[in-house]
Formats: sequence, structure tokens, C-alpha cells
Amino acid sequence: MTAQTQLFPCLKDNYGVLVHDPATGATAAIDAPEAAPVEAALAASGWTLTDILVTHHHGDHTGGIAELKRRYHCRVVAPRREADKIPAVDVEVGEGDRVEVGSLTAEVIETPGHTLGQVNYFFPADKLLFAGDTLFSIGCGRVIEGTAELMWQSLLKLRALPDNTAIFCGHEYTDANIRFALTIEPGNPALQARAAEAKRQIAAGTPTIPSRMGDEKRANVFLRADEPEVAAAVGLAGEPAAKVFAEVRARKNRF
Ligand SMILES: [Zn+2]
Repeated sequence: MTAQTQLFPCLKDNYGVLVHDPATGATAAIDAPEAAPVEAALAASGWTLTDILVTHHHGDHTGGIAELKRRYHCRVVAPRREADKIPAVDVEVGEGDRVEVGSLTAEVIETPGHTLGQVNYFFPADKLLFAGDTLFSIGCGRVIEGTAELMWQSLLKLRALPDNTAIFCGHEYTDANIRFALTIEPGNPALQARAAEAKRQIAAGTPTIPSRMGDEKRANVFLRADEPEVAAAVGLAGEPAAKVFAEVRARKNRF
């Protein structure tokens, strides 16, 4: 049976999302920025929380866990390498592990960089990727704990997923990401198309999430550091992709 999702805003610009298995009734929250919007989404859908799948330890992804755990006695699944920084963890996971939400199965993909233990949850049957703060629509997370080389390798792992993968990320940063990406690749037609689409979505008050991996491969400059035109655009023609990625990321930090 097909997984159902419900996306909703939390805090200032975070997203919460629920993944529901209609076959068993199991429902997972991907991260829990705060408890109240998760509970409101559960009430609106009539779903009951059974699991929280945590991507990383930052407070804007974990702030609601303790309260939700008390109320629903749900299972908390979290990255092994950060479990000591996340409340109420029941199951620790790492690269290649499988997590079941009812009859749905997620594969765990480690993507160190934003934090060192960050994990993504990929549901291969439904082609759903929950990318936390690693990959954003037309952007990527800040490299806070890892190195640019580590983050680039992490992004390559996500880029290897199928083009029809729907990407749910942790924040609504698409508009700023597009404005920045256009400074590097103003002539990229895929980026121009995504910019027009996002403009329509934002004007209509709808989320720009989920995005699609095929579009990100063509339009997200952070996934394109190994394209010669991106290297040339930042004055690093012929240099290694990780170095190009580091320069693009540094420019975004100053943008
Ligand atoms: Zn974060």
C-alpha cells in the first residue's frame, strides 16, 4: 500500500512531516521541531503517532520529542552517532540500517557534514526521501560539524537516488536558495524553470516541498559542483569537485 504524507510548518521556517501507513495505521513524524503542530497535524488526519524518525540533534528538529513521547509512547529512532544529544531515543541507527513504520520500510543513509551523525530516511517503495538539513530544494545545509569534502560526498550519495524521488527537507529556504543559485548559473534552463515554479508556489501560499531529485540534479548548484560550467563560474575550472563545492558553499554563507 502507498505511504501517505502530510507536511506542515513548524517554528519560523521549519517543516514537520508525517508518514502514514494505511495498511497498519502506523504513523511516523520525521523530526519533531515542536509538539503542538505535530499534534495538530495528527488531529487533522485522525492518525496516531507510533514513531519519530530523527535526522539530527539540532534543537529545531528535536524540541518536541520529549513531549510527544510522553503523550503517545511512540518509538524514537535516531542517529547512533548523535543519540547522546537527542532525548528519549529507543533505537539507534546508522548507514544501511532498515527502519519499519508499520509495513513501510525506510533505508538509513548517513550524510555527515551539517552534523557528523546526520541520517536521511529513504523509503524505496514510495521513493520518499526525508533529508533533514542535508539537501534542501536548490540548496544544502550549512557545513557545521563536518568538512566541505565530507558534505560533498554525502550529497553524492543522495544524488544517486532515482530521479522520481520526492525530497522532503527540514526548511522552507527555496526562494533564497534560488536567488543565490542564479548568481552562479543564471543561464541554467532547469534552474530558471524551477525558479518560475517556486514563484508560483510561493504566490499561491503553498510549500515548495517536496521537490524531485531529477530537478535537483539539473538545477541545484550544490549537486552540480562536478559540472565544468559551475567550476568555471566560481573561477575554479579544472579543480576537484569538492573544492568547487566548498567555494559555492562559502559564497552562499556570505550571500
Ligand atoms: Zn540542523
